[in-house]
Amino acid sequence: MAAACIFCKIIRGEIPSMKIFESDKTLAFLDIGPLSKGHSLIIPKYHGAKLHDIPDDQLAEVLSVTKRIAIAQGVQDYNILQNNGRIAHQEVDHVHFHLIPKPNEEEGLG
Ligand code: 5GP
Ligand code: ZN
Repeated sequence: MAAACIFCKIIRGEIPSMKIFESDKTLAFLDIGPLSKGHSLIIPKYHGAKLHDIPDDQLAEVLSVTKRIAIAQGVQDYNILQNNGRIAHQEVDHVHFHLIPKPNEEEGLG
């Protein structure tokens, strides 16, 4: 845990979030600035800024949860995005996977 980290604060409940899933190792919640309806963030509870800072077992569960949320949402088309470093557009220095549903035209942009 890092005292000043926004996502660690969400894990501790110090900042409110719309939680989708929680386990001992993993938390998933809706992105505050969604790129599409249902855009979620899946994070390890272990604090690390970049992918290579996170233990394998934590990463394995995060990816498994990401897959299960996609199944539960019923989305057929989606992007998984994971940024590392400012040049790569990372804003929050706590590893997170974006799950961004891509609705079809009938469903609109969400
Ligand atoms: P990054 O650019 O670091 O990959 O993405 C960070 C994401 O975190 C952005 O999509 C942004 O909307 C989201 N975000 C930043 N602060 C908060 C917050 O306090 N709550 C939630 N739910 N999402 C946040
Ligand atoms: Zn953190």
